[in-house]
Amino acid sequence: MAADLVLKNGLVVTGQRVLRGGVAVSDGRIAAVGADDELPRGARREIDVEGRVLFPGMFDPHTHLGSGDSRSYEAMSESFARDSKDCLIGGVTTIASTTVLGDDPLPVAYEKSVEAGAGRSHVDFKITCVVTREHHTGEVGAAIERGCTSLKFYTGYCGCLAEKMGMNPEGIPPAMFYRACENVVASGRRPLMMIHAEEPTVRFMLADRFAEQGRDSLLDWAAHSPDWAESVQVYQYGVITHELGLPLYVVHISRAHTIDFLVGLQAQGYDIIGETCVGFLSTTAEELHQRGVRLYGKIQPPIRHEADQQRLWRALREGVVTAIGTDTIPYTSKYKKDLPFWEARPGLNIQTLDSMSLLLTEGLHRGRIDWVTLARTTSEGPARHFGLYPQKGALEVGCDADVLVVDPHAELELGVERSLGGNDYSIWQGKKALGRVDMTFLGGELVAQDGQIVGEPRGKHVTRAPGSTR
Ligand SMILES: [Zn+2]
Repeated sequence: MAADLVLKNGLVVTGQRVLRGGVAVSDGRIAAVGADDELPRGARREIDVEGRVLFPGMFDPHTHLGSGDSRSYEAMSESFARDSKDCLIGGVTTIASTTVLGDDPLPVAYEKSVEAGAGRSHVDFKITCVVTREHHTGEVGAAIERGCTSLKFYTGYCGCLAEKMGMNPEGIPPAMFYRACENVVASGRRPLMMIHAEEPTVRFMLADRFAEQGRDSLLDWAAHSPDWAESVQVYQYGVITHELGLPLYVVHISRAHTIDFLVGLQAQGYDIIGETCVGFLSTTAEELHQRGVRLYGKIQPPIRHEADQQRLWRALREGVVTAIGTDTIPYTSKYKKDLPFWEARPGLNIQTLDSMSLLLTEGLHRGRIDWVTLARTTSEGPARHFGLYPQKGALEVGCDADVLVVDPHAELELGVERSLGGNDYSIWQGKKALGRVDMTFLGGELVAQDGQIVGEPRGKHVTRAPGSTR
């Protein structure tokens, strides 16, 4: 049978190796992977990628469309239509995005989120249900039944900041998390129990103290969240999920201390999955401070230091951290411009458009990661964790044909001008990067080329691959 598309004369990155050749696509799926002379002949469309890299479409496990300047499902619809373009041009073909904070029962929040993306999203998407209210803990089963494979808990917040997010002032105490876990167990599935680990009480005390002292640089921001803030919660919530037989997924790990802890727990058989973010891998508090980025670089948890960054890269190489996300939030400079440092909202804007270029520049070209590990941590890892492998996550026969054509040697200057979404600033403005996504295919269709979108939105909601226990 003739293939619909053949991409040849490339370097194909699979989960196991890099091989010279290409891929063939039939009916939106990968039909063959191999040397050029092994690929089917007479395809309807054939593209010579001229030695460039064929890479599996990235899966960004950590985005918050609809939770930026305004938080609503209308904002989410707009964000899917607008900001998901910045996924495709950056090489992200699937995202997981959170439900909007609020009182809606979880299954309702889940359905509204799916609805918000339907027909508008340029990328395939999954929805992570955010558990903030007491009643949510009893609704997890209904969300799981609808296809939800990930539940997020903002354990790193208390007091007025927790209240602003619709939680009680005590945030997510272990007992509340425990009850949610029990109800998940009753569903018979093993979705990701995700936590934002960052012990809040000491952190908030230090934040108040620093604010009073007039300390308001990004170095102070990093210092207000202690070295152990993540790891203490990884242990506290990790023992609960371990007891109940569920996987704990720790979002946006920023610290070397956390990695050391994680290594120990994983060695003891704890099913704890680590995620880090492109920002932590690509810059430091010191560098941002020096460049005068100030509020624009205020994210939660804070961007850390050189030693943390080195440890995070090593954790990716060692398989301790197996997912890279961005923590994308569609903020504009409205919340970043002239506000008092400690009052301004934390969070970066749409980061997906720079993911590949930053990871190649700071990782591959500096010898801190190889192609296969990069594919495992940006594509296969997240797909496996979210129950989507092998539908997503690799250039292997049978997988969805989500394929990137990457030129690792193309020079690129990062900046807000590249954004097709709602970004009006970039913390990477002017940064010289080496490596660019030239073409993005979603389900075998060309959907982005040279920084522009091709065609109408084709993204669809995806739940779990057959046989998944999530
Ligand atoms: Zn987040």
